[in-house]
Amino acid sequence: MKVIKFGGTSVGTADAIRQVEKIVRNAGPGSLTVVSAFSCITNALTRTITLMRQGNAPEALAELDGVEERHRAMIAELGLPAATACFTADTVDRVRGLIPALTALGDVTPRAADTILATGETLSSRIIVDHFALQGLDATHIDAREVLITDASFGAAQPDTALIEEAVRCKLLPLLTRHRAVVAGGYIGATPQGVTTTLGRGGSDYSAALLAAAIGADECQIWTDVDGIMTCDPRIIPAARTVPRLTYDEAAELAFFGAKVLHPLTIFPAVRKGIPVVIRNTFAPDHPGTRVIAQNGNDRRLKAIAFQRGITVLHIRSNRMLGAYGFLAAVFTVFRDHRTPVDLVTTSEVSISVTIDDTAHLDAITVDLMRLGEVSVEQGRAIVSLIGDGMRETAGIGARFFNTLRTVNVGMVSVGASEVNISIVIAERDLEEAVRLIHNEFFDGGAA
Ligand code: ADP
Ligand code: ASP
Ligand code: MG
Repeated sequence: MKVIKFGGTSVGTADAIRQVEKIVRNAGPGSLTVVSAFSCITNALTRTITLMRQGNAPEALAELDGVEERHRAMIAELGLPAATACFTADTVDRVRGLIPALTALGDVTPRAADTILATGETLSSRIIVDHFALQGLDATHIDAREVLITDASFGAAQPDTALIEEAVRCKLLPLLTRHRAVVAGGYIGATPQGVTTTLGRGGSDYSAALLAAAIGADECQIWTDVDGIMTCDPRIIPAARTVPRLTYDEAAELAFFGAKVLHPLTIFPAVRKGIPVVIRNTFAPDHPGTRVIAQNGNDRRLKAIAFQRGITVLHIRSNRMLGAYGFLAAVFTVFRDHRTPVDLVTTSEVSISVTIDDTAHLDAITVDLMRLGEVSVEQGRAIVSLIGDGMRETAGIGARFFNTLRTVNVGMVSVGASEVNISIVIAERDLEEAVRLIHNEFFDGGAA
């Protein structure tokens, strides 16, 4: 059994959906197809919610009209039956009905937002399964909310593995044995009480991996718009090359440090069950893409560069740190209290620097940290990470790395405890140059 996941661009046009049908048909019997919303639809739904929060019901309704129109055009282009069109109209009408009241109340809760955001995957999965059926492919639909059970952390819901496994056994496995393909929307789930949740942006990859683990799939395929995981985001480095094989650790690190090609949590369910994750290009289906597995022999080469924009650095300086215990704990407690994850950390005898990307509570965090020492804040930063297993054992990489970046002002340096990454913080305006220099040094013209 395989799980085959298609991202937004892979289902963004009628031609792309026809291509998806061919890939699923070739995948053999009993595959679970997980699909994202059509490209840009989740963004449009996010804008709808923002407009509602701003009290602008007419614009929110207009945005939703655009979402409906896009699906209506797709249904027409694929020649789908009236039932598909009715389902779409009903689903959008239900959201439309929520807009005036929620906007007037000025209270679009995270729970209501998730119900609205789920519309994208609800519609795309239904349209795609109806297209499969029209093409004579034996396929059925399952509402992901029946199997992907989560807690109630709306917008970033945490899966409940035990409940997912039970629901999958009762509801999904019987369908997989009876049909050639089962189609589900990614990104969405529900609490045990049936309240709709979402896993966070880009979460369809995570859905695919969770469901792959629950059905005991022998492979989890992530089909996207590039030839697998590459040495860098090809949007910045057009000469980036596909990395044929990565370990789970390397892929997790790349995703965590910003390579958008995989949602950062995707790898964990796969690791738990030892399922290979394969990243492939919907538009070049003969390309083998990237295979992510537990062990990659003794391949100690550098694999890729990841980067993240929009980073904020906080420096906390205090003489109380000297020889004291409990100081770092006090600093991290501030971030915990404000539910803000810290990404990189460096310390000296009298100072600690940390990076965050969620600045929602920055002011409150700064005030609390000022009780512990002098605080300075730098915004508009970026993190660049070089990733590859066994980096610490390879002599000279650090020297080459910093020599390459002579012309760039490097703020913080962190060598990951996982031994697969070295990360630096630089000004966001230097990001593209730094990435180009590192890629030229380590990846151009063959293996690193
Ligand atoms: P999908 O809609 O299929 O989930 P995403 O847009 O989420 O696709 O992810 C694919 C994109 O990730 C690519 O188009 C590419 O620009 C970007 N990307 C970032 N880093 C990498 C990388 N190292 N390798 C490949 N793609 C990357
Ligand atoms: N549609 C969702 C998003 O755009 C989930 C996904 O595509 O993975 O974030
Ligand atoms: Mg994605």
